[in-house]
This record gives sequence, structure tokens and C-alpha cells, in this order.
Amino acid sequence: MKHLGSVGATGLEVRLPADLVGIDGLILPGGESTTITMGLDQYGLADPIRELAASGVPVLGTCAGMILADRQHLGLIDITTRRNAFGRQLASFEDEIELAGVGGPPFTAVFIRAPWVEDLGDGVEVLAEIQGHPVAVRQGNVSAFSFHPELTADDRLHAWFVDACRSRISPRSVIQPE
Ligand code: GLN
Repeated sequence: MKHLGSVGATGLEVRLPADLVGIDGLILPGGESTTITMGLDQYGLADPIRELAASGVPVLGTCAGMILADRQHLGLIDITTRRNAFGRQLASFEDEIELAGVGGPPFTAVFIRAPWVEDLGDGVEVLAEIQGHPVAVRQGNVSAFSFHPELTADDRLHAWFVDACRSRISPRSVIQPE
């Protein structure tokens, strides 16, 4: 929420389907994917989130959120993830990564019981890899990162996501007369 504020966006917490109405972008955060899946089921959020993504609203999944976006969960992006792929809590780590499309110095990525992308379809673009495994991917309006961009002071990835949200709602989409 703080990072979103610092790049000029207003963050709202989504707890119920009604909270999705009128938003310009959705971040599926880190946490624990089994627990979040139970919450999505309990509050009837899965289908409304699928509809939101299908309507073209930018969606970003981070860590557990990457798992939730995959084929076996919400099916928002054509990837299969491997949970806890880098190991358990003690194997959590930070690494410097370069993200395709995000300028400036390397980004410090924080991996906490992080997943990696085990398999991906042809339409999925790999933005970053670690040890030969994709850790940042994008397909159309849906992006997913294995790491936690909110845990460092660097807000470039939030700015990148908010830009994607803004460009979708810009007057650019107004149809010009011939
Ligand atoms: N390991 C967690 C899971 O499987 C994800 C961890 C995280 O979001 N930091 O859901």
C-alpha cells in the first residue's frame, strides 16, 4: 500500500467481490497459497477475479500470488509453478536481478519460500530468471513475480505496474475518426 501511494496510486484492500468493482489493477500478494485459495473460495472471489483479468485489467501476482495465478489455481496465466521451489524458510534469499522492460540498476529481489515457473506456454514472456528458472513472467495483462517487490525501498516495479494500469485507462483508447 505504501509503495502504491509513493508512485501516485491509491491502494484498496480487496476482501469481497464488491471490492473489485471499478479498480484499475489487481495485485495478488504473497502469503500462503493454500490459505489464500480457501479465502478466495469462501468469499466467492475466484470467478470475479477471472472475469476482471479477462476484461483486460492488469493483474500482478507476487510469490504466493504467482502460484494463485497459475494453471492449477485461478488460471490467469499459462504457467505451472513449483511451490517452495528454492527450499524452505532457511533457504530464503535475496538476489540482484535484471528485469526486461524495467530500466535502471539491477533490482534486489527478496525470495521467501518462493515458487519458480516450472512450465510455461508459448504466449508467456520471461522477464527474469534465476538459476535457469523463470521468476518473472508476463502474458498480456497478467504478470507474475516469484519474489516480494514490496519488501525493499525500490518502488520501480510498483511504478511499472501502475504505469500499465494508467496506460489502459488513458484517452489513448478513444477511437479516432478516419
Ligand atoms: N511458499 C508459499 C506458498 O506456497 C509462498 C510464500 C510467499 O508468498 N512468500 O504459498
